[in-house]
Amino acid sequence: MRECFIFSRYRRPNYTVMECLCSIFQPTNETFNFWTHFIPLFFFLHMFYNFVFNNMEVSYDHPFILPMLCFAFGVSMILAESCATHGLNCLSLQLRQTFYYMDYVALNFYGFGFAIACYYYIFPLLTVMNPTRRIWLMLPIIFNVSRIPERIWPGQFDVIGQSHQWFHLLNFLTIYDQLCYLEYGFTSLVKSPSIIPSCKEANEIG
Ligand SMILES: [Zn+2]
Repeated sequence: MRECFIFSRYRRPNYTVMECLCSIFQPTNETFNFWTHFIPLFFFLHMFYNFVFNNMEVSYDHPFILPMLCFAFGVSMILAESCATHGLNCLSLQLRQTFYYMDYVALNFYGFGFAIACYYYIFPLLTVMNPTRRIWLMLPIIFNVSRIPERIWPGQFDVIGQSHQWFHLLNFLTIYDQLCYLEYGFTSLVKSPSIIPSCKEANEIG
């Protein structure tokens, strides 16, 4: 499968799994697509681990942590699925299409997880999303649809700098921004004990 404005450095079809894994260390047009989501995956896993297990406000088993776990699951799903897609999509044409369909499934998990976390951490504060966050949400889409910069300089970004890699990097910044926003809502609510039940009260309710 050929991408618009990308002329070289394609992997040949029907790679073995081992050839796919080796190719992520070679200069192909999928290499940086893989790494720009693989490194953020472990960055966010570390952030979520700290949030759950090193949280100074509530213990890891408090029910108020659960919405953040939903968001963590969605983020992990979409980044891990993207890594699998870019790393293994040359196994066969059929698997390539399956991986891209799974991307949409993971996108739904991510969106649903973020919606749940917003419902519990942001909506009670009645805070509206500020314009900066709307820009973050739009920028990745603009890069992915416009195919800039390779549309302007075809063949010059076959390995590094192509629009999909900017899309991935802006995805990372968007998720990081969302996480900061959710942590802000979480901390604000935890400091208002009248809004969320204590661990003991929550267990009694449960
Ligand atoms: Zn991608």
